Amino acid sequence: MEQGSRNVWEGSLWTAIDRLQENLSAAGYARETMVEYIRAARHFCYWYVGHAPLEAIDESTVEAFLRHRPSCTCPVMRWSRFSYPAGAKHFLAVLRQMGLASHIEKTVLPEDEVLEAFLEHMTKVRGATDTSAWVYVQHLRPFLQSIYTGGKFPFSALTARDVEAWVARRAERCKPKTAKLSCSALRAFFRFLKLRGEIDYTSMRRFPRSRTGACLPYRST
Ligand SMILES: [Zn+2]
Repeated sequence: MEQGSRNVWEGSLWTAIDRLQENLSAAGYARETMVEYIRAARHFCYWYVGHAPLEAIDESTVEAFLRHRPSCTCPVMRWSRFSYPAGAKHFLAVLRQMGLASHIEKTVLPEDEVLEAFLEHMTKVRGATDTSAWVYVQHLRPFLQSIYTGGKFPFSALTARDVEAWVARRAERCKPKTAKLSCSALRAFFRFLKLRGEIDYTSMRRFPRSRTGACLPYRST
């Protein structure tokens, strides 16, 4: 990117941060919240500068930004796991308002809602780190996509064989450590579903142990 256009490009982002501050202030956000959201927006800008055109920014860019935490080497003070997602989303809204980001909202995938709820449960209730919760989500997404049918996830109709077959397929394609991580993610996810009343845990407890030696989500502690 040429230096001149890069400066214009960066200038637009910093103008957007000013606009974000104005919007939050007008909406009556508490000062501490505003500071956190603006910190997230500044971090987003630092991370994104030079990556791709501004008009390519959409929800998937925000997701990628939030996922870069484990490898983040940006010179930032600290990463707030609660305010960063909200701050980045507010900033995306401002970029759209200014006609800078993509005006096309990314289609929400069917599994996004339940995965977002699971992520929140893991971090806020179970005390998992953002990183480990994200890793679980990455493992669960293909499982959920594999069972999605007729416009819904048939959680209550899942049988031990369904889950075992998926784990076995996973074990064939992955390193043992990766397959085991998938199992841990499934176990945590099924506990979460039980809490939401979406599955009968009593029946899940009868699930046989997988021949892969991995852990199916039937054992509760
Ligand atoms: Zn960073």
